[in-house]
Amino acid sequence: MLKFIKEYWDSFLYLFYPDLCIICNNNDREVHDTFCFDCYAQLPFTYQGTALNNDFMQHFAGKINIQHGASLFYFIKQGMVQGIIQDLKYRNKPQYGIKMGEIFGASIKEDSFFKNIDAIVPIPLYKSKEIQRGYNQSSKFAEGISKVLSIPIISNNLIRIRHTNTQTKMTREERLVNLKNAFTVKNSQLFEEKHILLVDDVLTTGTTLLECGKKILECKDSKISMATIAMGELLR
Ligand SMILES: [Zn+2]
Repeated sequence: MLKFIKEYWDSFLYLFYPDLCIICNNNDREVHDTFCFDCYAQLPFTYQGTALNNDFMQHFAGKINIQHGASLFYFIKQGMVQGIIQDLKYRNKPQYGIKMGEIFGASIKEDSFFKNIDAIVPIPLYKSKEIQRGYNQSSKFAEGISKVLSIPIISNNLIRIRHTNTQTKMTREERLVNLKNAFTVKNSQLFEEKHILLVDDVLTTGTTLLECGKKILECKDSKISMATIAMGELLR
């Protein structure tokens, strides 16, 4: 995976945009359209896209049958990635989601574990929440991946039918109860016999991905893989 991120990065080396680095906001450094070289070198990439039994997979072991899963970054509190995620979710920076999707897509492009994916499905937000934010951050991540891998996105088929309370301070059990029956698949035929890549912004306890994954797997002969921009350090 390291190799492909590097190749992707190298392909941009000739483009020195005068843009600010999205992490340090410095304009006196060489920056491509997202990060300066100093920040890029410090980003906590998981480099686990190609690892079979990686941290991400271990997170779901015994809970659900997923083909493969990986996260682009580790999420470290107060760290660079937290800043990116907060900008994406709360500071109206949908373009960061797209960019992270492009980087992730490029990093798994040659990865056999992610081959044969038929469609990307973002974890849905409750409608009023999406209207309030103006976009769904997971959809933006999906857009970036879709662009690089030329895989279609299926939106509005996995939907959130119930508003759920914020889960930040809940235990894993409380989250499971909170999310029960929060999601549904509108037209199961759209997911039948398909390998779906389910994407979200951050993997923390994994309960949301788990609930959504189960709903998709109820569709005949479907398979799922998962990807997130960042994952917590629970299993490190
Ligand atoms: Zn920087």
